[in-house]
Amino acid sequence: MTASFRFPLLGEPLSLDLVNTRVRRGGIDVDLLETPAALAAWLRAESARLAWSGAVEVADLQAVRGLRATLAVVLAARRDGVRPAAAALRQLNVALAAPAAASRLVWPAAGPQLVRPSATSQRDALLQVLAADAVAVLTGPSAKLLRECAHPDCVLQFVANHPRRRWCSATGCGNRARVAQHYQRQQAGG
Ligand SMILES: [Zn+2]
Repeated sequence: MTASFRFPLLGEPLSLDLVNTRVRRGGIDVDLLETPAALAAWLRAESARLAWSGAVEVADLQAVRGLRATLAVVLAARRDGVRPAAAALRQLNVALAAPAAASRLVWPAAGPQLVRPSATSQRDALLQVLAADAVAVLTGPSAKLLRECAHPDCVLQFVANHPRRRWCSATGCGNRARVAQHYQRQQAGG
């Protein structure tokens, strides 16, 4: 059985792409990262920007979802112009402080060998990259351009590089809104 995973908005800063794996559909909140396979699919979709090798374990999923909740809090705080809860700030800093997952050359008597990062250090490195991206967004020029999609049934977030950008996607929510407006005008006029 193969499951297919779709992520509605990729290509924003990584921290936003991660937060955007929680979506709203028909008024219901849906988590697109429910299983390790779903996280593996997201990591594949982000493979140009995120390094990952090997299987995704439940512990990886739990860690990424935990960081996602933290990033959602701090990004929302920045959007709303308030300070986030101290716990969220602490958790973000824990992720930032992780040592990088570097490969190492070791040289025992038998000769030189490459030692790949452990599963734990790979996970920590992933969290660190995602946390660092959030910090770059929060402290950089994108911070004042953080928006949530204007459609009432959508919670996707983006950086409004175009000042008039209101929708996560012009063809998705933008189009939905235009169709609804057109319908309302017809009802009013009819
Ligand atoms: Zn939207």
